This record gives sequence, structure tokens and C-alpha cells, in this order.
Amino acid sequence: MIVHPELRRAARPARRPLLAATLLQGAVTLTHLAQAALLALALAGLAHRDTGRLPWLLAAVLAVVGARAGLTVWQRRTATRAGARVRVALRDELLAHLGRLGPAHLTTARAGAVRTTLVDGVEGVDTYVSRYLPQLLITLTVPPLVLAALAATEPRALLGLVPALLLALAGPRAWDRLLAARGKEHWDTYEGLGADYLEALQGMPALRAAGAVGRTRARLEERSAALHRATVAKLRVSLVDTGITDLAIQGGTAAAALLACWSAVTGSTTATGTYLVLLLASECFRPVRDLAREWHAGYLGASAADGLAALRTAEPAVEDTGTASAHRQAPPELRFHNVRFTYGDAPAPALDGVSFTAQAGRTTAIVGPSGAGKSTLLALLLRHHDPQEGRITLDGRATTEYTLASLRQGIAVVSQDTYLFHATIADNLRLARPGATDDDLTRVARAAGIHDEITALPDGYATLLGERGATLSGGQRQRLALARALLADAPVLVLDEATSSVDERREADIVRALPTAASGRTVLVIAHRLAAVRHADRIVVLDSGRVDAVGEHAGLVEAGGVYTRLVEAGRAHRGELAA
Ligand code: ADP
Repeated sequence: MIVHPELRRAARPARRPLLAATLLQGAVTLTHLAQAALLALALAGLAHRDTGRLPWLLAAVLAVVGARAGLTVWQRRTATRAGARVRVALRDELLAHLGRLGPAHLTTARAGAVRTTLVDGVEGVDTYVSRYLPQLLITLTVPPLVLAALAATEPRALLGLVPALLLALAGPRAWDRLLAARGKEHWDTYEGLGADYLEALQGMPALRAAGAVGRTRARLEERSAALHRATVAKLRVSLVDTGITDLAIQGGTAAAALLACWSAVTGSTTATGTYLVLLLASECFRPVRDLAREWHAGYLGASAADGLAALRTAEPAVEDTGTASAHRQAPPELRFHNVRFTYGDAPAPALDGVSFTAQAGRTTAIVGPSGAGKSTLLALLLRHHDPQEGRITLDGRATTEYTLASLRQGIAVVSQDTYLFHATIADNLRLARPGATDDDLTRVARAAGIHDEITALPDGYATLLGERGATLSGGQRQRLALARALLADAPVLVLDEATSSVDERREADIVRALPTAASGRTVLVIAHRLAAVRHADRIVVLDSGRVDAVGEHAGLVEAGGVYTRLVEAGRAHRGELAA
């Protein structure tokens, strides 16, 4: 019965419509009471063979029934609106928080579980808040009022009603803790299953390649069976719950009826009193019955509350305490000052005293063998983590002084795994800048070397992409992502192995076109393959978390060292391809 603080919190943005929904629910309950009272009067009239008022009373009953129909519709609408507001506010908040948590969070939490919380959990909260809570308030206020009314006409009826009502309300509470535990177990299993399915679907090609489809299916079946068991266990407890409530309701009503009949037989009450007791006794329990029903509907929300709270309060890896805006027209100078960073309890630092400068408006390449620390460097720049030592500055200002949102908005990243949405090509591009004109789109698509291929498609820019852009080749997806990043109004552009699925000639074309396409931006190209960086203004060679050398292509080749080895490895690789 005690409302989870997370759910109370969720209800806050919709306080007004919820209050309206509760008042309307109260009005609906009043129509039930009025109907019972009117019917009692009518029946008493019949008993007294006094039928003069009967037509009026019946007409009043009809009017009450009509009013109730209208009120019920109104109540549902209000409650639905309140629920929608709760849902939207909660999802917005959770999504914004997920954004702040950044990808660092998803390395520990599973995407599928987060999805389940965000979709099903939030739906459950909606039902809980918009249907269960108003009913809860009604249940706590209406029966005592009815009892008070009955006490005035027939005090003895309370002997049966009060204990029954107490039992109906308090009885199930004895099971609450067990129910909460089972509910948590059920929710966790549900979340786990959601995560497993999402992974299995997304990883289908890998599973097939590894011949693991059968095993995965078996594991999913086992998971489904576990969910079934958890559901049944939960149902068993909640059925006992319902059983107790029903028993109390039936027992109480029967006791009240017996008492009413007894007082009628002994002649201590009027007929009206007897009928009132009979009809109001069952009305007294209606809110309790309704509450049990809404409880089942809103149950998922109650179980999800812990998961929601965990997601909402998860600590981001970095603190968003900066206040400066990184939004500016001129490209900034980007500088690493003696940056040192070690992951968790890794034995060696991933970056160990890295210093370099990416000049404003120029292209700086970061190269190095696998594991050199290139991705880490980018993660630090975007503040998915903060370095333990040293600092990173944009235009002389530490990245920590900017608000996270403006910092990340100011850095457009094209990465190896591009994300395209199930939408048209134009829509996918406009994600970066909703107000972009068609001319803007063609300009960036040309710069990214994808314009001709888009116009060759039957629907051109209006072509609907499959899920994750499945209808395009890997290289096309990357170039589209590049176009999207070019469209973004970000003064810093990062290409993170972004041209790796593009063939070399095209890669060279893109890189050559980049200074013009990305003019007015500070560009960072993180690359494995050297063709992509040959024309960079400056190349930073990273090895085992340290800066091995900084220079231009020709100078670095001459100097020998790590860069020369990378060049030779690249040549050998190309040789293999040619052979
Ligand atoms: P690159 O991008 O150049 O291949 P990374 O930045 O990914 O290199 O990795 C640098 C080092 O940090 C490697 O030794 C790698 O094993 C380690 N590393 C990368 N990510 C993590 C992580 N999330 N947790 C622990 N160690 C990591």
C-alpha cells in the first residue's frame, strides 16, 4: 500500500490531471452511492405499498446511471492524459540521463535491459500512477464516509462491516513483502530476457557464423521457462492476496445483510434503514474491489520502480559541472597536456603522458597500432571518462569547464560503426541539423562522395533505409555518416577509423576533399590505415599510450620508427590484397 518513492516522484509532473482524475473517480463512486440510496428508497416504498414516488425515484436512478457513464468517460480521459504526461516526462528524464551517462554506462548495463525499463517499465508506471493511485485515494476515503453514514442509520451493521473492511485492506499487506520480492524477481527475469533477445537478434550473423544458433535458442528457451516460473510464482502470491480480499468482501457483505435482516425481523429499524444497509454494504466494498483490479493492472510499474530508480540515479562517469558553452563559429585549437589515464584496475595506463596540439582549422591525424590508445584518446576528448592526470583544452579552456552537452555537440564524430535509422536518407542526414535545406544536403553529400550514388537510387534522397541502414553497403553507410557529421554545426570533426570500409581510392578522394568540405573546422582523423592520413597537416604517432613522434608524412617516414613500420605493414597488406 505504501507507494514507492520512485513512483510518487514519477507522478509529480502530472499532479493536476491526477487530482482531477481522482476527483472524477470520487464523483463516479458517489453516483454508485446515490444509486444505492435511491434504490433503497424505492424498495422501501414498495415494501410500504407506497408507489407514488416510485416513478420519480426510478427516473432519478436512470439519471444517475447516465451521469455515471459520462463521468466514467471523462475520468478515463483525464487519467489517460495524466498517464501520458507521466510517461513522457519520465522517458524524457531517463533518456536525458542516459545521454549524460554516455556509452561508458552501456559497457556495464545491457542495452536490452535498459530498453525494457524504458519501454515496459515506464508503461507500467503510467498505469500505476494514472489508475492505481487515484483509486487508492478513493478507497482510503470513501468507505469510511459510507460507514459513517451507516452508523447514523443502523449502527449494528458496522459490527460486520468494519472488521471485514479492515481485513480486506490490511490482510493482503501481510503478503506485500513476499509479493514485492516475487515481483522484483519477475521483473529482473523479464529484463534479462529482453536483453537476451535483443542481443540474439542483433548478433544473429555472428551466432550463425559461430554455429551457435541452436545453443542460443536453447538458452533463450531456458530463460523463457524461468520467466514463466517467476510469473507463476508471482501469480500464486497475488491470487492468495485476491482470495483474502474477496473472502473479506463476501463475508462482510453477508454479515451486514444478516444484521440488517435481524434488525428488520426484531422490528428495530425502518424498512428504509434495512434496504440502505443491504445496498450500501456492498457499495462500501466496491472501491476495495476496484483497487484490487487496478493493482493488478499497475503491478508492473511497482515491480519496475527499483529498476527505474537505478537507471535514473546511475552515476555518470564524469561530472557535468562546467558552465561555458563550447558553441562557437571559429574552429578551436585542441590540446592534450600530459594526459594520463588508466582504466579501472588495468595494470598499465592506456594513455601515459600524452601531449599534442591539433591546430585550429587544420587536420591532425592520430595513428598507431591496435591498442596504442587511439579510442581512449577520443573517449577522453568527449569526456566519457576524465583523465587522472593532465588536461585537455579547447581554445585554452579545459574541457571540464564546458557543459557536457555543448562540448559533445561541438564535436561531430564519424565512427566505424555508423548508426543510421529506419528513415529516409534525407531524414537521416537532417538528424544533424533539422533545418537543413535540400541544397545543404546535396553539398555535404557531394563532399562525402555519396551524392551520385544517392541520386542513382530510385527514390534519391527520399529512399527509405532499412533498419540500421541495412540497404546500403558498409562504405556507403560510412560516407552517409560523414555527410551527416559535415552537416552538423560542430567546430570539431573527428573521423574515427571512419573510412575503413571504403576502398582505398575513394578513401583518398574523401581525405583529399576533406579540407574543403570541412573547412572552418578542426579535424581529427583517427586511423589505422595510412592512406587516410597522408595528407593531414600533422600526424601524431601513438604507441603503447605514448606519443612516439609528431610530424608530416615525409618527415616521419624519413625518421623511421613506429610510423615507418606502420607504412611497411600497410604496404605488405596491400601487396597481399593485390596477390
Ligand atoms: P586503440 O584504439 O589504439 O586500438 P584503445 O584506446 O582501444 O587502443 O586501447 C588502449 C589500451 O587500453 C589497450 O591496452 C586496451 O586493452 C585498454 N582498454 C581499452 N578499453 C578498455 C576498457 N574499457 N577497460 C580496460 N582497458 C581498456
